[in-house]
Amino acid sequence: MTGPRDRAVVIGGGVGGLAAAIRLRAAGHDVTVCERNDVVGGKLAELVVDGYTFDIGPSLVTLPHVLDELFRVAGTTLADEVELVRLDPQFRYHWTDGDSLTVHDDADTTAAEFARFSSGAGEAWRAFDARGRRIWDVSERTFFAGPMTNPLSLARRMRSPVDLVAIDPLRSLHRSATAVFDDTRLQQWAGRYATYSGSSPFRAPATLACIPHIEARFGCWYPMGGLGRLRDAIERTARRVGVEIRTGVEVARVLADDRRVRGVELLDGERLAADIVVANTDAAHLYEDLMPDRRALRRVRRAKRSTSGFVMCMGVRGATPGIGHHNVWFSSDARREFDQLTHGVLAAEPTVYACVSSITDASQAPDGCENWFLLVNTPPGVHVDREAYAEVVLDRLAARGVELRPRVEFVRTLTPADLASRYRSPGGAIYGSSSDGRRAAFARPANRGARGGLYLVGGSSHPGGGLPLVVMSARIVADMVAADRDDPARDDRG
Ligand SMILES: Cc1cc2nc3c(=O)[nH]c(=O)nc-3n(C[C@H](O)[C@H](O)[C@H](O)COP(=O)(O)OP(=O)(O)OC[C@H]3O[C@@H](n4cnc5c(N)ncnc54)[C@H](O)[C@@H]3O)c2cc1C
Repeated sequence: MTGPRDRAVVIGGGVGGLAAAIRLRAAGHDVTVCERNDVVGGKLAELVVDGYTFDIGPSLVTLPHVLDELFRVAGTTLADEVELVRLDPQFRYHWTDGDSLTVHDDADTTAAEFARFSSGAGEAWRAFDARGRRIWDVSERTFFAGPMTNPLSLARRMRSPVDLVAIDPLRSLHRSATAVFDDTRLQQWAGRYATYSGSSPFRAPATLACIPHIEARFGCWYPMGGLGRLRDAIERTARRVGVEIRTGVEVARVLADDRRVRGVELLDGERLAADIVVANTDAAHLYEDLMPDRRALRRVRRAKRSTSGFVMCMGVRGATPGIGHHNVWFSSDARREFDQLTHGVLAAEPTVYACVSSITDASQAPDGCENWFLLVNTPPGVHVDREAYAEVVLDRLAARGVELRPRVEFVRTLTPADLASRYRSPGGAIYGSSSDGRRAAFARPANRGARGGLYLVGGSSHPGGGLPLVVMSARIVADMVAADRDDPARDDRG
């Protein structure tokens, strides 16, 4: 029998929302997901054009065990649901001086490649990786293990002050890279990992040095058929355990009294009663539109938005020599590039990331063709003239010997404004909130909402954006709901 605290509505069918729905359903709640788009997945989305398939959101899967843990909650496994391939090589990096570096799945091969690239860099890479390992091992059982409201909540999960030192929160990622790598190109390589949380290497904490370690240790993965198959698997699993998923349904209002949420009201006026409301929307949308709350909104605005992006999807005839599944062409001046982004302007000479998944998976492009997905970081909310900036990006590639224009069949672009309207992500922020600044981790909206029974899941709240992190946020929320159910007094707020 279900009790009054057992009905849950999830607003938004992004990966975090679906993951929370699966966990709440597994814990015995009646769960309905309301997604305003016609498909679930949110930013995990694909575009199919003329026989080409593009992953237009995430193109890289990391920490697959975090996803596997979610599937296991629902009585299945990641491997049973998706055919995942561990990529080797993982990435090809190119600099303006014409030098390139290939990062492999194997540590010895990668260290040898760094040593070949720059004198002493093999040992430096091992030292950087060892530091990343320490950071990850501590953050996994502290930062990622539970909610985060203030520095104390983190301190409580630490075993000793040594843990705090280990996660290296006070220096910037760039400073930690310069302490290890003499070669400025490798400092730029390390700094790029700040962009995995929509941040700048000159502002984000050195804690993010755990990300290259995560790739080296747990691999870079690709689901055959594209990331859309991972979305399908999560949706299928949610339905199988009994989650009700309603698409094309927009939530207009969270119904609440002074103490607790009571349900939601849809745009057409229908009301769904619930004692648990999980918002998978951006926290700003929640407190601005769905449940206006000035105090909560002020807190939300303390968190800086992550970068947005300019996306180009291109069907390209023929094979491009020297490219891999994941490729990066760096700018000539990282400092200038991130200064421009931080000051709200487009990088004049951007770093260009390209995913060409047809290298691994022939189903993603017609025979003999390539599916190019290009991503360039932009400030959130910036206006992008899509034709003009596409030329800037293609010029950058051409200058590096990759002239695609004569072979391009079509180009589709997404600007920050498109990302904002597709996913209702303010400014088109890719990751929700950024990690810029020492206090970023504490400024992020908490998973517990401003009324009893209200919870926040997904990229704008703790622990931040990226597929594994939003799946972790669903675990944190489900644990919180369970604790509140055992002790309702904890959760009632007035
Ligand atoms: C271009 C791009 C590249 C990326 N690359 C990677 C990558 O390689 N690896 C990686 O791990 N991550 C990557 N990410 C980040 C990752 O996609 C996101 O962090 C993650 O998918 C966000 O999930 P979420 O749970 O926050 O929900 P979102 O994806 O933000 O979904 C929220 C959902 O809520 C819905 N919604 C909003 N308001 C309402 C309402 N009022 N009523 C009903 N529904 C509503 C929206 O329509 C949306 O579907 C990338 C993102 C983008 C855009």
